[in-house]
Amino acid sequence: MVASETLALHLAGIRCPNFVDARIGEARLAIHMTARRAAAAGAPDHGVVIADSPNGFPCRHCLRWARPGERVILFPYAAIPPGHPYSESGPIFVHAEPCERYSATRKYPADFRNGRAFRAYNANYDMIDAEMANGSEPEAVIEKLLQNPETAFVHARSVTRGCYTFGVERI
Ligand SMILES: [Zn+2]
Repeated sequence: MVASETLALHLAGIRCPNFVDARIGEARLAIHMTARRAAAAGAPDHGVVIADSPNGFPCRHCLRWARPGERVILFPYAAIPPGHPYSESGPIFVHAEPCERYSATRKYPADFRNGRAFRAYNANYDMIDAEMANGSEPEAVIEKLLQNPETAFVHARSVTRGCYTFGVERI
């Protein structure tokens, strides 16, 4: 089986939206713009950082690594909203300059094939499972987590710093 067939098989019925979950709605799709405005206004929880390594600054809007020398905004993002036992807010980056939102579906973001852990949540935002892509393809891990009918969505996280990278849900 060629690689493209493997990908299509694994991601049937799955999409990898941008850094927010589509279920949350359009308001949060614009969070990158809110972040850019807040940084420009000097908000203390929005820092502007210059990327100084090729794979240390993942942009949650275009789902690519910022290139060394590019400016990124660092700010806290509530990947799991407040009011739940697993509520969580943590630091994420977006490009400071406009970038194109990752809009591919059924396609795993190529820049983040390594170093990700995957957490499955139910519809009540409870974490019900978690797994690392340890030597296996990330698509296979995501598919396994989504095979549980209780899984409402899956989050990809950095295995080292724990930062939220992107969400996956069924379509
Ligand atoms: Zn970007």
